[in-house]
Amino acid sequence: MENRWSEQDAAGLSEVELLVYQAHLIGADPALVTSGGGNISLKATRSDFRGRETRALLVKGSGVDMKSAQARDFPAVGLEDVLPLFERSDMSDEDVVDYLARCLLEPGSPRPSIETLLHAFLPQASIVHTHADAILSLSNTHRPEKVLKEVFGNTVVAVPYRRPGFLLSKEVAEAVLTHPKAKGVALLNHGLVTWGSTIQSSYEAHIDLICQAEEYIQKRTMGRSVFGVTTAQAALEPEQRRTVAAAVAPTIRRLVASGNARGRVVLRFDDSPVILEFVGSGKARDLVEAGAVTPDHLLNTKRTALLVETTDSSNVAEVRRALEEGVARYEQAYTQWFRRHAKAGQEMLDPHPRVVLVPGLGMWTTGRDVRATTVTADIYRQTISIMAGADAVDRYVSLSPEEAHKAEYWPQELYKLSLLPPERELSRRIALITGAAHGIGQAIARRFAAEGAHLVLTDVDYEGVEALSAQLNEEHGAGWCTAVRHDVTNEAETAAAVRHAALTYGGLDILVSNAGIAPTGTLDELELEEWERSLQVNATGHFLVAREAVRVIREQGFGGSLVFIATKNVLAPGRGFGAYSAAKSAEVQLARVLAIENGSYGIRSNIVNPDAVFQGSGLWSPELRRERAEAHGIAESELEEFYRRRNLLQAYITPTDVAQAALFFASDRSAKTTGCILTVDGGVPEAFPR
Ligand code: ZN
Repeated sequence: MENRWSEQDAAGLSEVELLVYQAHLIGADPALVTSGGGNISLKATRSDFRGRETRALLVKGSGVDMKSAQARDFPAVGLEDVLPLFERSDMSDEDVVDYLARCLLEPGSPRPSIETLLHAFLPQASIVHTHADAILSLSNTHRPEKVLKEVFGNTVVAVPYRRPGFLLSKEVAEAVLTHPKAKGVALLNHGLVTWGSTIQSSYEAHIDLICQAEEYIQKRTMGRSVFGVTTAQAALEPEQRRTVAAAVAPTIRRLVASGNARGRVVLRFDDSPVILEFVGSGKARDLVEAGAVTPDHLLNTKRTALLVETTDSSNVAEVRRALEEGVARYEQAYTQWFRRHAKAGQEMLDPHPRVVLVPGLGMWTTGRDVRATTVTADIYRQTISIMAGADAVDRYVSLSPEEAHKAEYWPQELYKLSLLPPERELSRRIALITGAAHGIGQAIARRFAAEGAHLVLTDVDYEGVEALSAQLNEEHGAGWCTAVRHDVTNEAETAAAVRHAALTYGGLDILVSNAGIAPTGTLDELELEEWERSLQVNATGHFLVAREAVRVIREQGFGGSLVFIATKNVLAPGRGFGAYSAAKSAEVQLARVLAIENGSYGIRSNIVNPDAVFQGSGLWSPELRRERAEAHGIAESELEEFYRRRNLLQAYITPTDVAQAALFFASDRSAKTTGCILTVDGGVPEAFPR
């Protein structure tokens, strides 16, 4: 564990800036805290609303992520109001929360951490509390007191597991009072508390103790393979592993979805060496069953992961069977566990696994979006490292099933969940958009991203689609978008693009088949090559990607939406557009047959017919503009105006207009509509669908 404190960086910082600096140092190290976990505090002098000086505790707000914490994330509570609580014998969590709300020096501050009393009751100025991996490796063992004593002697006091709240706070304060030489408190199955007279010294005390723990563990792991010999499935070769993983991911999505669209999840696949070693080890079963490391870990990973039992992980059908069996078994065990410990009136949360481990393949994490699946994956990787450490010094032990139930259904933790941003129209959906680098495809990508969809953007222009993906990830958060080079006429590339969606996000819900070209020329002069090229891109291209998409969507079992971007020319062709119009008509007919063949699977297939979209369009090449202007007997510069005047509404049609129609078909707004054409052309009577 690195001591990240830099005299240079800390120089000149104010008290509060130092506190924020400390939060960032701690948050930067995943071996200290996971997203939203841990807390720090500082006792300082503040003025109350009447200008009177008062002792205050600046403590991290509930659920705030250390690595991105700001000064405003540290509400100040009046110590004079808080300290008398120490005389009480007990207090419920609700009463503590209510009481603390009244102690805030600034009304409307964020809710202070539920561990606030623990910080307040300790006399030292600066307190640090984390869920450090190395400490958990020592404390999540069969005989934690003995192990801790061996590592730290009398410098660390062990406090038995108890849920955070009034009693734990009091017990920690009493332990410190009765052990004046102690430098830290190890909270069993929870974490570490250290203190100091300055922000720097409490941080350094924390790092020192963790280093001692790490050295101790390291000595015991040296020269031995962490989880013993591989007794389950050896990992497949990367290429084969990913092929199987992509094929079974939609099955996992189906199995772990609960009922309606809001119960759908996205997946994240991880086949890094540490995961493969763990899932293939003979100890994995026992360790998985022993349960999550702390209540904090449990909230993301649930009490246990699902470890699937396969006899042959190279066989897709066999892995699917094992997944079906495994998820059913998990659900049943979860339900039983819930019923055994539930209080009257308590409602069961989602009974499906958040972590799915398949020997030979790797790990999937499930969640409502890529942020959640990434956090859960990080936490489970960490769990594995903690279990490895615990296993090296003793036997890994975790919370009892009863304590685990209290932790998952603890109202204070459920409160944290309520802080999550609200869901959007395409939340939990995965969309693949072809021809996404420019014009209509790009506008649809932007619109869908704003509605919370996870996106696979494909185009022959890889640089274009890569740049768009990077930009959207910048705007909406890392990992929401991914770019694939994809020529829609290439069968293998098309299969790879859809496979990429399954591997990256677990499957597919929406296909926007948009890529197209617009060759021109009257039929008497048209080259065969031009004609065939148009059919390849504008007809076959749609067939290939739709075929792949439908297979994945059917496997998921909860329906989906296919959106085809066609053209007004399908219903009202014009001269010089023979190759284009004929191929696009095939696209529309394809879309309708897809609607007929897939209705029983809940898959809708609809068509958008735009007209004369110029902005950012790849279709309107300089040649086409020149050629069209000539055909209409106008100047090239008058072209857009000409098309505008031609429609009933005299409207310029923009890519954003088309994106609105695509969103309508992609979302539940059109849940009862399939095989339909929606025009986005400003009104062209000869192109009215009939
Ligand atoms: Zn904690």
